Amino acid sequence: MYMYSTRITHVRPELECMGAYLPGEALESFSTRTGIPVDRLIKLNSNESPFGPVPSVMRALGDYSNYNSYPDTNATALRAALSAYTGLDSRYIVLSHGSNELINLLWHIFLSMGDTIISCPPTFSLYTSLTTFCGASMIEVPRTVDYRVDVEGILAALTPSTKLIVLCSPNNPTGNPIAEDDVLALLVSGRIVVVDEAYVEFSSRPQGFAYLVPRYPNLVVLRSFSKWAGLAGLRIGYGLFPAWITHYMLRAQCPFEVNVAGHIAAIETLAHLECVLANVRRIVHERERLFEVLHGQPYLEPFPSQGNFILARVHDVKIEQVRAVVEEYGILLRYFEQPATRDFLRVTVGLPEHTDRLAEALATVKS
Ligand code: PMP
Repeated sequence: MYMYSTRITHVRPELECMGAYLPGEALESFSTRTGIPVDRLIKLNSNESPFGPVPSVMRALGDYSNYNSYPDTNATALRAALSAYTGLDSRYIVLSHGSNELINLLWHIFLSMGDTIISCPPTFSLYTSLTTFCGASMIEVPRTVDYRVDVEGILAALTPSTKLIVLCSPNNPTGNPIAEDDVLALLVSGRIVVVDEAYVEFSSRPQGFAYLVPRYPNLVVLRSFSKWAGLAGLRIGYGLFPAWITHYMLRAQCPFEVNVAGHIAAIETLAHLECVLANVRRIVHERERLFEVLHGQPYLEPFPSQGNFILARVHDVKIEQVRAVVEEYGILLRYFEQPATRDFLRVTVGLPEHTDRLAEALATVKS
């Protein structure tokens, strides 16, 4: 009894209203649920790379002999390598253990009780749960029918309490990028515009909007090594921030956030870019083949994507039926709970043999 009342009086009330972020199901829990051994599963539900880190990353991690020391707090070597990669001076660069954590930090720096943030669903759901955690409110300006950002709608939804506008490009889960004119029009609002570019390396403009950061004091660009570089398990991401926001990010961040393995892996990735980008090209090539496979099913409507995933609408057959068949084949896809995407599935681009197996499974669905 005492324990219970202590809990409810001490926990921040925002947490009671906060929906936890639901990641794609883990291999282990899928295996327990279905009885299919982990080594027979195909995981296409979290936009991970089907390729491991490039071989030089694995060698460098094994050769390193100083794991007993903390990492370089200034991350001098990695920020210099990122500066060469992005074309921006290293003073614009802040690292963290995954771009999720940069979103978390940014939200906590800018949002408090009574503030609002604008996002454009369907999009990455972490933006919403963190907003609730901060005691702020999410104003949702839905995308147009072809999933473009409704710039007029965003501008009309601005209020004095609006602190942030968050845009994902290419957008998870719809796969389309935002146009430069739209970003520029939103920057004029004076609000902090966050462009989440976790998937930008798979797009036709892999340089993204980094080059605009030195020109606009209200633009933030977030990046990740999880997808294109195959480092999701090592947890490393970075952001490009105007100097005044960098200052607050560094003040708010815990010391030594990125572990040494993350530093090493990111540095080696950037030192062997050609090899990593060859994997990106393989994924982009496979994405086009996967699109054709999905398009070939009479009950699926896939949307063109510039990420390493494809969203498809399921029609004329229940999504539960598709899911049951696909799961029997040991394939994990991403499904959604939100009403707007309830009849959609998202497929991560895997290896050619993964596409083949999925094609086999989808062909057995009766429509
Ligand atoms: N942004 C988007 C749009 C994502 O889809 C993800 C991963 N699902 C992230 C950020 C987080 O990536 P990470 O923390 O692995 O860098």
